[in-house]
Amino acid sequence: MKAARLIDGVVTVVDAPTPEPGIDQVLVHITAAGVCHSDLHLARGDWAGVGVDGERPLGHEAIGVVEALGPGAVRWVAVGDRVILGLGGTGGGFWCGACEYCLAGQPRHCSQSVGIMGVFAEQFVVYAPGLVVVPDELSDLEAPLACGGLTAYGAVRKLFAHGVQPGSTVAVVGAAGGLGHYAVQLLDAFGYRVVGIDIGDDRLEFVRDLGAELAVSPDDAPAAVAEAFGGVHASLVFSAKIAGYQLGLQLLRKGGVFVAVGLPASSEGNMQLNPFDLLMRDPTIVFSAVGTVQEMRELVDLAARGVVRTHVSRTGPISELDEIFDELAGARYLGRAVITDLGA
Ligand SMILES: [Zn+2]
Ligand SMILES: [Zn+2]
Repeated sequence: MKAARLIDGVVTVVDAPTPEPGIDQVLVHITAAGVCHSDLHLARGDWAGVGVDGERPLGHEAIGVVEALGPGAVRWVAVGDRVILGLGGTGGGFWCGACEYCLAGQPRHCSQSVGIMGVFAEQFVVYAPGLVVVPDELSDLEAPLACGGLTAYGAVRKLFAHGVQPGSTVAVVGAAGGLGHYAVQLLDAFGYRVVGIDIGDDRLEFVRDLGAELAVSPDDAPAAVAEAFGGVHASLVFSAKIAGYQLGLQLLRKGGVFVAVGLPASSEGNMQLNPFDLLMRDPTIVFSAVGTVQEMRELVDLAARGVVRTHVSRTGPISELDEIFDELAGARYLGRAVITDLGA
């Protein structure tokens, strides 16, 4: 089978042997795989040099068809099932189900948790309990729901957990991007008032179309938000820039909730917190990473009902992956790119 690997820092398509499903695993024939910013960061060695040496698989959000079952997997899926897989890469490969964190609904923190990486391939072996069967009305181009969509949904759910009620004002920093565009749709559907922040007229128009009440550039955001709302109740920061983190914090009203999602390159340095500003505004600061298989089921249901959909600006074969990474690095897309032919 064809598979994309990062070999000594170079994205390379190789011929690899078909993997064998083990206990509770299945072999999935991948029909579409989304290109996530995390893949780009790994491929370019942005995160403290991770991925610079040796060989590693790439890709962690996909839709495919179950081809073969390992022992025990029959309890979860059947051959021929069309499934979405990924759970944001940092979950979904395995979780024990029995530890303190698993039982508290935080399998990402499970000490036995295994991520998913390697769906830029014709076939992939995956832990069957992490799969969600997708209905026919969901197209293959919805593959980015598996990480981008789930991560955005998980961030929106943090608002529920921290008491930010529908009707409140929420800033989405990086609103036209691969994650932000889901968050704008979900927040609008759940009754929040959305301030979408991004760069460029076409991106701001896109954000308005998705349901944002106000769409502004980062430069204009502080004055526009102050005038329209006097500050936001929450900021969801999908931007992978420290400047986006600072802006999200700056826009909060007193007692606001700051939800960090984007992971800037290590070279971007650190977010600055001024203790007097903390005293005066008393924000709640949390990080939100991906979601659970239950949240994936809910999101698939929301997508099947048309509440949220993936905006795909670019499709291509696996051989164009490196080119797509360059385009993604240059922020040349609204929404997402999807590899639709894993064999060419
Ligand atoms: Zn991802
Ligand atoms: Zn566990």
